[in-house]
Amino acid sequence: MEWCLTMPKIELHAHLNGSIRDSTLLGLAKALGDEGKIVFSEFEHVILKHDRSLREVFKLFDLIHLVTTDHEIVSRITKEVVEDFAAENVVYLELRTTPKRNDLIGMSKRSYTEAVVNGLRAVRTVDVDFSSCTAGGPPTPDCRNNSCAGTAKKKIYVRLLLSIDRRESTEAAIETVKLALDMRNLGVMGVDLSGNPIIGEWGTFLPALKFAREQGLPVTLHCGEVPNMEEIQGMLDFIPERIGHACFFGEEEWKKLKSTKIPVEICLTSNIQTNSISSLEVHHFEDLYRSKHPIVLCTDDAGVFSTSLSKEYSLASSAFGIGKKEMFHLARNAIDFIFAGDGVKKALTHTFDSAAKKLD
Ligand code: IMP
Repeated sequence: MEWCLTMPKIELHAHLNGSIRDSTLLGLAKALGDEGKIVFSEFEHVILKHDRSLREVFKLFDLIHLVTTDHEIVSRITKEVVEDFAAENVVYLELRTTPKRNDLIGMSKRSYTEAVVNGLRAVRTVDVDFSSCTAGGPPTPDCRNNSCAGTAKKKIYVRLLLSIDRRESTEAAIETVKLALDMRNLGVMGVDLSGNPIIGEWGTFLPALKFAREQGLPVTLHCGEVPNMEEIQGMLDFIPERIGHACFFGEEEWKKLKSTKIPVEICLTSNIQTNSISSLEVHHFEDLYRSKHPIVLCTDDAGVFSTSLSKEYSLASSAFGIGKKEMFHLARNAIDFIFAGDGVKKALTHTFDSAAKKLD
């Protein structure tokens, strides 16, 4: 559907390394194979396989991280991911990534995140606004870069969320939150809890998430990716600013979610491919949409699941019989759930208003 591609869209749940281009991943793996560091044929097979279970997806992430832990590569992937989203008219992207530490190559969580920011600076095909300087905040040195230049090029707002991996300790999670606070003037807007949902205890991360909240950093949680009712209840009681997925909710959990009105990041292709939801006919998107619960369509891992935000809109439109105008409103409603401030919300409202005039 051409209109899904051309209409402006907002992406709020995209993992940086999960959004890597297949061609880049294969190229990086080939280079490592040539150096004798991995067996390329085994790697190639895993990359090209589709319809992975959730377990296989996390195996793939381990492989992806093998080839992507180097500052320059992190910057390159960031640049390409932003270019890809911008090319399909994503006008606001909240990109999340787990800051990684690798002492062997002199990488700290901070230097990893700085490499991500350098990737944003390196984008040339589109104007990237990644700092708060145009969002009503105080001017920062980044105003000197392309973000505030007022050029006529197509523009994308990019904000970062730092992810806490469920494999991490309380201390490591707190370190990530502190880093997020330190890098707020470079576009870091909030914190995410993600990683393999069968690993770790939710309580381990609570001190870090409470600290984030006390400091005014919004939080989004991967919630209900597996049937763990105690954890889901605990997460909903925390009342995060948003949650992702919500696949394994029972009646009580739906009731709680709806009464709290926590916005849900919906990732249709991801949920189906990982068998978290058996088919689109029974996907909770429809109930949440019809009951006017706040939702936003997202990709999760555009590279890993071979999708794009336009494809997710197209899929929802055809699977649930929702027309072009309604899909436009769905996309526009996401402005209310972004973590960036009022300045960016105002600019996005203007973008959608202009696009609405051309809708018919
Ligand atoms: P990164 O944080 O940029 O390295 O992106 C990949 C990471 O995102 C993975 O290693 C996971 O920790 C997390 N991730 C990606 N997709 C999912 C998901 O569907 N559920 C939970 N965590 C995920």
